Amino acid sequence: MKEITVNLGGIVPLSTVDWPGRAAIVLFLRGCPLRCPHCHNFALQSGDSSVNLHSVASKIASLVKGETIVAREPSQNSWQIDLDEAAERASNKPFVDALVLSGGEPLMQSEPAERLFRLARSLQLCTGLETSGCYPESLRRLLERDLVDKVFLDIKAALQDQSYEKATGFVGVAARVRESLMICMERGVPLEVRTTVFPEMPAASELVEITCMLSELKNMYPRSCLERLVLQQGLPREGEERFEPVSRARLQEIARSIGGWILVGVKAKPDNFFETR
Ligand code: SF4
Repeated sequence: MKEITVNLGGIVPLSTVDWPGRAAIVLFLRGCPLRCPHCHNFALQSGDSSVNLHSVASKIASLVKGETIVAREPSQNSWQIDLDEAAERASNKPFVDALVLSGGEPLMQSEPAERLFRLARSLQLCTGLETSGCYPESLRRLLERDLVDKVFLDIKAALQDQSYEKATGFVGVAARVRESLMICMERGVPLEVRTTVFPEMPAASELVEITCMLSELKNMYPRSCLERLVLQQGLPREGEERFEPVSRARLQEIARSIGGWILVGVKAKPDNFFETR
């Protein structure tokens, strides 16, 4: 039988920030075809730390059962166990109710992603997908098979070639992201769009453009389930030259100015959330 592996960058055993309102296991799948200049997961863009899918599945099952296994950094087929965290988990026995696939770009590994979501279904976990939207065909397949309960879609700039090339380092990505967005809208999967705002991009006019586009699509597809647009404060990545991030106050000001059409939230340090009403 063919051995299926997953190029795994790491596991967060319990996160309440990736999917607000849920207690999620987050798997970071290594590998991404894009090269965003401020990439927040730079270390996951490339490399190989493949592990057997069955071993990942049994880790997930253990975490769901509240067993004291904490997997952080997969190194080939071995796992580091953090004893302090294991002890904390043993005392807290947190309730995990979701599995989120993140990256890198999780849909770069479409077969392992599908299998992991099927496993989540069998464990009665809700399933969330954090994606850049550059693999619309894989996204469509997962949604057609009813394997994803919520999509967190990064829209990095106005969906035009020039803006998207600046934001991702590649041409031709904007059309693929647009297709992914349309698929989500058409199928009515709960959707959170995330745009990370850096001092030099996207421009304020692009944020207006993104908001107008989302509002139009929402009206065009009555089944759509766009929950909100979240403006995330872009921070310098590790090793990058420091810069002053766009302030929380400024992001809130932008959110208020564009928030008439759709719900707009702001995620910025200190770690709390602002939302237009
Ligand atoms: S899509 Fe995400 S993981 Fe890929 S390069 Fe951009 S920021 Fe990094």
